[in-house]
Formats: sequence, structure tokens, C-alpha cells
Amino acid sequence: MEEKQTTRRGRRIALAVTLITLAELLLLSIVLLGLDARRVHFYMTDGEEITVPWGVPYAEPGVRAFAAGRVTGEGEEELPVRVEGAVDTGTMGDYVLRYYASTMLRRYSVRRLVHVADTTAPVITLLRNEDYTPNWFEGYREEGFLALDDVDADLSDRVRVEMVDGDRVYTVTDAAGNTARVVRQIPYSIGRPQIRLNGGEELTIDAAFTFTDPGFVCTDERGNDLSAQVIREGEVIPWSVGDYELHYRVFNALGEHVEATRRVTVRPLRNPDLPGPEGKVIYLTFDDGPGPFTDGLLDVLAQYNVKATFFVTGLYPEYADCIGRAYREGHSIGVHSVTHSYRRIYASEEAFLEDFNAMQDIIRGQTGAETRIFRFPGGSSNTVSRFNRGVMTRLSRTMTELGYVYFDWNVDSDDAGDTTETGQVLQNIIAGCSEHPVSVVLQHDIKDYSVAAVERVLIWGISNGYSFAPLDETGPEIHHKIAN
Ligand code: ZN
Repeated sequence: MEEKQTTRRGRRIALAVTLITLAELLLLSIVLLGLDARRVHFYMTDGEEITVPWGVPYAEPGVRAFAAGRVTGEGEEELPVRVEGAVDTGTMGDYVLRYYASTMLRRYSVRRLVHVADTTAPVITLLRNEDYTPNWFEGYREEGFLALDDVDADLSDRVRVEMVDGDRVYTVTDAAGNTARVVRQIPYSIGRPQIRLNGGEELTIDAAFTFTDPGFVCTDERGNDLSAQVIREGEVIPWSVGDYELHYRVFNALGEHVEATRRVTVRPLRNPDLPGPEGKVIYLTFDDGPGPFTDGLLDVLAQYNVKATFFVTGLYPEYADCIGRAYREGHSIGVHSVTHSYRRIYASEEAFLEDFNAMQDIIRGQTGAETRIFRFPGGSSNTVSRFNRGVMTRLSRTMTELGYVYFDWNVDSDDAGDTTETGQVLQNIIAGCSEHPVSVVLQHDIKDYSVAAVERVLIWGISNGYSFAPLDETGPEIHHKIAN
């Protein structure tokens, strides 16, 4: 009985030991297995996602796997890697490659996403024409280019051409967004022409009726004559003293231009202080002012050293101070009429003298002096006073007795008649003065078109041997025939 109990206990103990041993082995395996799984590593060259060019055979960048701390063996050991999947670089799209490595206990894997895409920019080829020499004037004439792309084939008609800092820049982008850019340096951009002005950039001329441009030469660096392409802008009015600018420009096909500027100064002629040996004298006289154009007229006369005579009125009292200026600048001032009303001044000798003295008062106020010269309104030969028969005969005698000297004219500009155009006023004066060695010219400084002729009258007179002088009581005696 006791022996049986002992045998039974021994079996139980053996069983327990066996169970405990199996449990320990199981636990150990689980621990080793877990350690093993954590110690396999993949190394992927270029990463898990790559883009490869279309049309180029696929070259696997490589994947390596290493295992460490396996159940059997020690240290790291490289494992063979097996690849599943394929990349067709002839067809654009996305491909997945799987890489496998196995230990004795488990299989491991990683994946790689491969994009097959157009990654190559088009190629731009610039063509050259050996027979062609560019020049500045024509601008660059395109010699041609080709743009070829692996995927999109010929993109030549999509090339954009632009000028950047004198260079020609060609760009084209293919459908996948790859851009090519090529620069062509244009030799003509340094071949700009030059405009050389005959006579120089500063020119001073004497006032005259005509101006002849001394001309220019325009050549490019290769010696091509571009003179015919030069455009001149600006104007010189040679009969008007002043400074002028002439611009000479040549444009090329790109709208660029080269320019030269000439400054022309028109210098006044100088009226001689004394008459020349021929004794040709012109007395310019201006009636009915002063008015709005008198100041400008005085400026012109001053530039040419010319003194004239003003038979003044009170018609534009706001310009009365021109009388003072004219007097101070050496011009002669004579009475014309304060009212210039024929009905009033020719009604009687008293009425005439009343009007005359009122004008004399204004002159004295402006100049500080009385004048001894005058001009009858309408002239001494007027017929507007015939409503008072004989009045001109009586007045001319009375005024002479009072010590006054009157002047008519022998050259009529007709600026108070039918002539209202400057060129005709000028012609009338030139024609009239040509007939007399001594001329007294009638003009009205309240007529702008008549005043505008004066500068050319001065140029004509001075350059034709005349001198201009102011009237005074010593003459000349230019009297019309009294006609009442
Ligand atoms: Zn008048």
C-alpha cells in the first residue's frame, strides 16, 4: 500500500516537471520570436516613392534587407530580397513594386510606388544662316529654331521668343511642364547708327526769310548709309528771333531710335544807327494803338534796334502805359485822336482841338513831355470830313500855325482795308518801300496780322540797305493832297 502511494506521487512529480518544462519552452519561443521580428530591416535606395523618366528602361535603385538576433546564428546577416511587380516605362502611370525577405520564422515585405512620367525638357536648337548679317535698322530677322520633345514631339510652333536686355530668349514648355530656355545673343544690338550733324549741334543764324538745314549723315557701324531713313522734327522760323530745337531720329524695326538734336538760335539783324550812303530810310508808323499787340511789337523793334513812330489814341486805355514804354525806348509818339470819332473831331476846329488836347494830356501823363507831331485820323486827304466842307484846309493851317507837324504816308500796308493776311501786309509794304528812297509806312498796331509782318519788314529792309528811323518835326514832309 505504501509502495503504491510512492509510485503515484513520483508520476505526478514527473508530469508536473514535464508541463513546467513545456511552458518554459513555449514562453522562450514567444520571446525569441518577438525579438526576431523586430530585428529585420529594409534599406530602400531613393525611398518609397520615386519618379522615373518615360521611355528609359527601368533601373531598380535597389533594396537590401538585414536580419539581426535570430534564434539561430549571431550578428547581422543580409537576407536575399525578392521583387514582385514590374514597371513599364513605355507607359506613363503609377506602378507598385513589392520587396520580400524571409527568416526561418517569418516573411517580411516593403513596397515602393514608382511614377513613370515625362521628366525631360524639350530641346531647343537655334538655326544659323551663314549668309545673313543682322543690322540695327532692320532689327533681327529670325534665322529659325526647332523645339523637339521626347513625348510631345515637335513643339517649334509653341516657342515663345522675346527680347531681354538685347538678347533673344526662346522658351518652350512641354505638356508635362518641363521648360527649356535658350538665349541667342544678337550682334546687331551693338551696331547702333550715329547721326552726325553738318554744322554742329549748336547753330546761330542771322534772321532771314529762309532757313536751310546744313544736313546730316547717318551711318551704322558697318558703314550702311541710313540718312534717307532719318526723320526730322521741329521747325525753325528764321524770321522770328528765338531759340529752336530740331530733332533728327532714325527708328529701327523694333521701335528703338537714335537721336541727334540741333539747337538753332535766330539772331536779330541790327538796324544801323545812321542811314547808309544811299540814304534809303523807312519810317514805320503805327496808328490807333496802343493795344494788346503793342508790347510784343516793342519787343521786336528793340531786338533789331529799330525806332518807329506811334500815333496814339485813347481807344484802349488799359494799354496806355505802352506809350510810356515806347517813349522811353526811343520811339516817337504823335497825337492821333483820343476818340477817333470822325463825326466828333471834324465837326469844328474847336472840337478837333478839344480831342487833340485830351490825347496830348494822356501822352504828357505817360511820357512827361508834349509831342509836336500828329496824324489826322483818316489822313489829311480824308473824305470822311466832307460833312464839314473845308475843315481839313482850315485844320491843317491852324495846326501848322500852332507849331505842330502832321504826317501822312506814302506806303499803305492796307491793314485797315481789304488786307487781313500777314503775308499780304508784308508784300504791300515791300512793294511800296521799293518804290521810294524814303518811305512812311502806315500800319495799325491794333491788328495782330499786321504786327506779325513787322519782323520780316525789318529783315527785308536791313538786308536791302534801308535804315529805319522815327519821325520828328524835321520831316520828312509826306503830305497828301487835301481833298475837301
Ligand atoms: Zn486812325
